[in-house]
Amino acid sequence: MKAYRPSALTKAAVPAAIMLGAGLSLWEWPSHFLWIYPFCGLLFMWFSWTGEKEVKYIFLFLVTAAGLTLPKLAGRSGDPLELYLAAIAETLCVWLLFFALSLAERSSKSAGEKLADEEAAAEDRIRALEDELSRYRMHLAGTLARIRDKGALSSAMQDMGLASTPDEVKARLEVLLKNYFPGAAVELRSGAPRDFADNWVAERKIPLLVRNADGDTRLPKGLLGPAERSLMALPLHLFGRLVGFVRASAPEPDRFRAEDLRGAELACTLAGVSMENIYLFDKVNELAIKDALTGLYTHRAFQSRLEEEILRSARTKVPFCVVMADIDHFKSYNDNFGHQAGDAVLKAVAETLSAGVRDIDFAARYGGEEFALIITGAAKAAAAAAAENVRLALEARSFTFGGRPSRVTASFGVAEFPAEAAAGGQLVRAADERLYRAKQGGRNRVVAA
Ligand code: GH3
Ligand code: MG
Ligand code: MG
Repeated sequence: MKAYRPSALTKAAVPAAIMLGAGLSLWEWPSHFLWIYPFCGLLFMWFSWTGEKEVKYIFLFLVTAAGLTLPKLAGRSGDPLELYLAAIAETLCVWLLFFALSLAERSSKSAGEKLADEEAAAEDRIRALEDELSRYRMHLAGTLARIRDKGALSSAMQDMGLASTPDEVKARLEVLLKNYFPGAAVELRSGAPRDFADNWVAERKIPLLVRNADGDTRLPKGLLGPAERSLMALPLHLFGRLVGFVRASAPEPDRFRAEDLRGAELACTLAGVSMENIYLFDKVNELAIKDALTGLYTHRAFQSRLEEEILRSARTKVPFCVVMADIDHFKSYNDNFGHQAGDAVLKAVAETLSAGVRDIDFAARYGGEEFALIITGAAKAAAAAAAENVRLALEARSFTFGGRPSRVTASFGVAEFPAEAAAGGQLVRAADERLYRAKQGGRNRVVAA
């Protein structure tokens, strides 16, 4: 409930009425001057209620002065000493009333002030809490945005790890960076450094972040065009070698932050690792199917190709042949010229075999110095002719071992599917038997029957 406060007119009118009443009474009945004190007491109470301060002091002074002078004026109507004592007593009462009212005012005021102070402190606390809350909200929004970014980045990175070719990895890296920095130009450069920024990265082996090309002291003035006011240049490594550069740029300054550079660096590192994985995977696969010394297919690859060939031949009713080959007296090359010379012979024979058959045929190192050929879509006559060509080509090659010219020959056995065998193992055995007979017959020959 709102406390009643008198208007300015009421504030002035009430003391004026009291004073007028007191003044007139004293004028009419000066002997009753002692009534001035109760009037004054009433006035004090009025003033303290209305909040007046200065006027109260004036009245206190006036009443005290009146208390000391009025008994003289009113002396005729009674004992002056009695009047003096009464006046002093009433003056004291007025003073007491004055102090009591002042004390009450002060204590109520100090209570009010205390309340106001507490209110102000509470408001300050609320303001501080609101500030803190808004800061927290901003921080939360930033953190959520970062989590979203990181989530998108990590799923894009996982996606990159699933690529199956190096080109696919590069394409995904480009898409990732374009999505991560919308509106920015992204370029993947392979090979040697092409400009100042590439050179800077290549020399220092760290990424380059240019927040504003106009004020960047590391760059010669005007080197980067207006489209590259903000720039990130990152190295792309493969097996520890610098193989290219990733460039992201934007025309506006301060487009990229240090955090962005770290994210892009992470993506580039992961792209490099993904590409390395693909190369290693291909290499492992190749090692599993290709012989390291000769580059021909392995025994295992031969077996699976043989199965495929049998299925195809059974389906198409077109025959194919297996040729088994073995280098003649190979042991003596090893014994006379050493194992390295033996390896060189193995490679040369492998080359001759590969060159002597068509692309659709299949040449494998069966094991040691034995080789196997699959002559696809051909009957025995054609396969034997191919084997004969290889034999002749090998015979025609000259080798130099320990400064001495030498020749290398091989023996061949040919068998046809399905005419001479119903399964892969049987077919190889048949070709092997003929190879044995070629050896028996004097070596350096093809046996097909
Ligand atoms: P044949 O005319 O009867 O086939 O006589 P050969 O000496 O060729 O036959 P043999 O089976 O007695 O010898 C095969 C040799 O091939 C024995 C082995 O040391 C050699 N050899 C097998 N694999 C390799 C290889 O990878 N490198 C080298 N240098 N030699 C190998
Ligand atoms: Mg042998
Ligand atoms: Mg041999």
